[in-house]
Amino acid sequence: MPNLPDYHIHTPFCGHAGGEMEEYVLAAREKGLPEMGFADHLPLFHIDDPTLAMAQSDLPLYIDRVRQIQEANTDYPVRLGIEADYISTHLDQVAEALARYEFDYVYGSVHFIGGWGIDQSRFKFEFERRDINDVYESYFGLVMEAARTGLFDVMTHLDVVKKYGHRPTIDMKPLYRDVARTLAVSNVAVELNASGLSRPVGEIYPSLEILEILHEHGVPITFGSDAHKPSQVGREFDQLLSLARSAGYTDYVGFVARERIPQPLPPIPE
Ligand SMILES: [Zn+2]
Ligand SMILES: [Zn+2]
Repeated sequence: MPNLPDYHIHTPFCGHAGGEMEEYVLAAREKGLPEMGFADHLPLFHIDDPTLAMAQSDLPLYIDRVRQIQEANTDYPVRLGIEADYISTHLDQVAEALARYEFDYVYGSVHFIGGWGIDQSRFKFEFERRDINDVYESYFGLVMEAARTGLFDVMTHLDVVKKYGHRPTIDMKPLYRDVARTLAVSNVAVELNASGLSRPVGEIYPSLEILEILHEHGVPITFGSDAHKPSQVGREFDQLLSLARSAGYTDYVGFVARERIPQPLPPIPE
C-alpha cells in the first residue's frame, strides 16, 4: 500500500454508503495511510432524493461527527472535506452551504447534464439516445464552468462520463487541453479516483491520456478511493500511484483549511 492519503471517503449520511464512520478511520489507519479525509455528498439543492446525497438537515450533523472523530483521533489526521455537485441553477445555495463551515477541501463533481444523472444506471439508456461526442462536450463544458466558479479545490472523477464504457469517436485532446488550461488558471486540482476500476469502464478516473495533459499544464493531483464501504478505503492505490508516475507526476497535494500542501510522491512499491 503506497504512502498516500485517501481524501474521498463517504459516510452513511449520503444514503448509499455502509459502515460506521469510525470503521473508515480504522481501515485507513490499519492500511497505513498517512491521512484520510471524509468527503461526503453535500445536499443536492435541485432534487430531493435521499439515496443520492445527505439531507440539508444532516449537513451540520455530518460536520459535528467529523469533528468528534478528529477529537477521538488526535494522533491521526482526519480531514473535513465535502463533495459538492456543480448545479448551475443552484450555485448560490451551494456557495452558501460551503461558506458556512471550515472545510479542509471542497471536491467538485459533475453528475448531471441538465436533469440527466449521467452516472446513474437507471438513466444509462440516455447514452443510446444521444450523440456521444456531444455528451462529452457538454459534460466537460460543465466541468470547466464548475472550475471557473472558484467554489471547488479539486475536481473528482474528472471523466466519469466514461463510466459505462461510452467512448467518443473523435479526438478529444483539444477539449482536454481546454479543460486542463481552465483548471490550471482556476487553481483547481484533480483527483485520481479508483472507483472507475470497478465500473463497466474498468479504468481509473481520469484516463492516462487526460492525466498527461493535466501534468503538462501543471494541474496538481490528489488521491481518492471514493469509498462507500470501509473495506474500500485505499483501494487500488498502487494503480493510482503508477498512473500518476506514468503521466510524469512527481508530487501531489494535501489540503488543510483549503490551502494546498505539496508532497513528494512515494516510490512505486517493489
Ligand atoms: Zn456516493
Ligand atoms: Zn461523485
